[in-house]
Amino acid sequence: MHFIPNILFAILLVVGVGFFVKNVKKIIRNIKLGKDLDRSDNSSERWKNMINIALGQSKMVRRPVSGILHIIVYAGFIIINIEVIEIIIDGLLGTHRVFAFAGGLYDFLIGSFEILAFLVLISVVIFWIRRMILKIPRFWNKEMTSWPKNDALNILYFEMVLMSLFLIMNAADFNLQQLGADHYIEAGSFPISKYIAGWLPQSEGALIFIERSAWWIHVIGIFIFLNYLYYSKHLHILLAFPNTYYANLKPKGELDNLQSVTNEVKMMLDPNADPFAAPAETDNDAEPEKFGASDATDLTWVQLMNAYTCTECGRCTSVCPANQTGKELSPRAIMMKTRDRIEEIGRNIDKNGSFIEDNKTLLDTISNEEIWACTSCNACVDACPVNIDPLSIIIDLRRYLVMEKSDAPQELNMTMTNIENNGAPWQYNQMDRLNWKDE
Ligand code: SF4
Ligand code: SF4
Repeated sequence: MHFIPNILFAILLVVGVGFFVKNVKKIIRNIKLGKDLDRSDNSSERWKNMINIALGQSKMVRRPVSGILHIIVYAGFIIINIEVIEIIIDGLLGTHRVFAFAGGLYDFLIGSFEILAFLVLISVVIFWIRRMILKIPRFWNKEMTSWPKNDALNILYFEMVLMSLFLIMNAADFNLQQLGADHYIEAGSFPISKYIAGWLPQSEGALIFIERSAWWIHVIGIFIFLNYLYYSKHLHILLAFPNTYYANLKPKGELDNLQSVTNEVKMMLDPNADPFAAPAETDNDAEPEKFGASDATDLTWVQLMNAYTCTECGRCTSVCPANQTGKELSPRAIMMKTRDRIEEIGRNIDKNGSFIEDNKTLLDTISNEEIWACTSCNACVDACPVNIDPLSIIIDLRRYLVMEKSDAPQELNMTMTNIENNGAPWQYNQMDRLNWKDE
C-alpha cells in the first residue's frame, strides 16, 4: 500500500501535463490562424533581443521599483522551480530529497531557494499593496475590471501560497531531521524556514502530517498554476521569449507597405508605363482579398502572438498621449480585445470543427474613435517590456476602414482628396504654389 501516493502522483503528473500540452496546442493553432509573415531574417539580432529583453528583463527596469521586484519574482519562479525536478522524482519513486547526495552544493541550493522564496513573498506583497492600496492608475483603467483585475490578483495569491507552502514544508522537514525521524535524512540548509520551525508542533506525527500536506498542496498548486496559465495574462512567462525573438526589427515608424499598392504607385510614377495594361499576375502582385484587417484572422501570426503575450501591465497605456488626454484609446485594451476575439474564433472552431461565420469582427469591440485617436507616435511600442506592437494592429484596422469602407474622419478624407487632386494636402491648385512670392 505504501506505493499508493506514488501512483496518485503519477496520475496527477500525467493529467496536469496532459491538459497543459492540450492547451498549448490550442494556442499554437489560434496563433497560426493569423496571416503569414516572414521573420526568419537577422537571427543573431533576434537572439540578442530575446536574451536582453525576455531573459535579461532589460526593458522592465526602466521603471526601477516594479522592474526590480519583477526580476526577483521572475528569478525566484525560474530558480525555485528547479526544485520541481526533485519533487517529481521524489513523487514518482517515493524517495525523499533525492538530490541530497550532492552534499554541500545541495545545501547551498536549498538555502538559496529559501532566500529567493522569501524575497518573492515580500515582492508579491509589495505588488499587492501597489495594486490594491496605492491604486497605481495604470492598474485601474476601465479595461482592468472583472477578469483582468481578478487574474492579476489570483496570481499574486497563488505565489503567496506556493512560497509559503515551500517554506512551511521545509520548516517541518527541518524539525523532522532534528528529531531523526525515519526517511527524513539530514540534508539541505534552511536559513529562513528554521525560524518558522519553532512555531510548529514538535511531535513527529504532527510534523509529518504538516510536511506531507504542504508537499502535496504545493505539488497540486504547481499543476493548477501550469494549467491556469492558458486562461491568464501570465502566458507571458512562456511567450515573452518567442515574442521578443520575432519582434519587428525595422526602425520604429517605418510602416510596411502593401505590395499591390506599392506596385500601383510605382506604375503611376513611371512615365513609360502603360496605364491600360493588365497587371502582371505574379503572387507578389496579386491583389489581396482584403485591404487591412477587420477581424483577428486578418492580422499576422506575430500580431496574434503579441495579443497572447500581453501582460496587461499597462505601461503602453500610461505613456499613450491619446489616453493621457482623455481619449477612448488604450493600446493595452487593443491587445486584450484582439486576444479575446481570436480566443472566440478558436472556441468556435473547437465547437464546430471549423470556423462557422458568427457575424462578428474585431471592429465590433474596437471602435472607430479608438482607432483614429492614435497619433502613431510609437510610445506604446517603445514602452512595452516584451516588444509588443499595438500600433501595427491599429494601422491595419485603419487600412481596412480607409481602403475597404472609405470610413475615415472627414478631415482625413479631405486631405487625401487634396493629395489626389492637387499633389499636396492643401486645397490649392498646383499651379498656384508659388503665388506667395508675389504677395
Ligand atoms: S502609437 Fe498610438 S496607441 Fe501607441 S502610444 Fe502612440 S498614440 Fe497611443
Ligand atoms: S502591450 Fe506591452 S506594455 Fe501594453 S499592457 Fe501589454 S505587455 Fe504591457
